[in-house]
Amino acid sequence: MDELRVFVCERLHAITTQILGAIEKTISNYEEETSRLKEENDRQRALLDNVLKTKIPRIKEDDELCHRRYLDMSEWEKHGSDHGTKNTSAVYANPHVSDSSPACGARDAPNHSIDLQHVFTSRTDFLTFAKSCDCRDCPYCLNRTQATETHLIKKHFLCAVRFAEDGTEKFVVPCTCKDRIQNRSHWHCPTCRKIIFRKCNFEVHLSKQHKYTILQESQDTE
Ligand SMILES: [Zn+2]
Ligand SMILES: [Zn+2]
Ligand SMILES: [Zn+2]
Repeated sequence: MDELRVFVCERLHAITTQILGAIEKTISNYEEETSRLKEENDRQRALLDNVLKTKIPRIKEDDELCHRRYLDMSEWEKHGSDHGTKNTSAVYANPHVSDSSPACGARDAPNHSIDLQHVFTSRTDFLTFAKSCDCRDCPYCLNRTQATETHLIKKHFLCAVRFAEDGTEKFVVPCTCKDRIQNRSHWHCPTCRKIIFRKCNFEVHLSKQHKYTILQESQDTE
């Protein structure tokens, strides 16, 4: 009987050791796999961060536009269908649709630049637009700056890039909005929405990409 007990004990011990060994091996395989996946994950996240950093303003704009179009459409369907043309004005009164005033609270809205008009045909249009912001701050400056005529003219109008499109003289004012870090002034292309840093690069962009004629001086700088 003792012999049998010893035999059983030995067999059990051997089997237990074998099973535990197998479990340990499996776990260490999993651990290796996990750490490999984690590294891969980190690498891809860094890659994605990089891509997003360069692409995000554009993506946000597109998103916002789609979303807005969707809202406009549903708004239209909601009101337009039951009251005929009566509610057309309500749809246009929607602040998202209206282009008549700059986006206020620019500092809270990272997407303000899409709502913000950057291209004008006259100095008066520009001043009227820039001053119409309810908060009375310059809509083109990230730092709170009063939208005084002196500021608007000196910082934006005089630095504007002037060009002719189909014979119409237009100009794009520079801004330092949230779209780009470091408070660097930049120009928003009114045609393709690209954001360009240097004035000369923006001029090249307008003439090469969009075939506009760059004008050096404006007639109404006075
Ligand atoms: Zn400003
Ligand atoms: Zn901007
Ligand atoms: Zn462009």
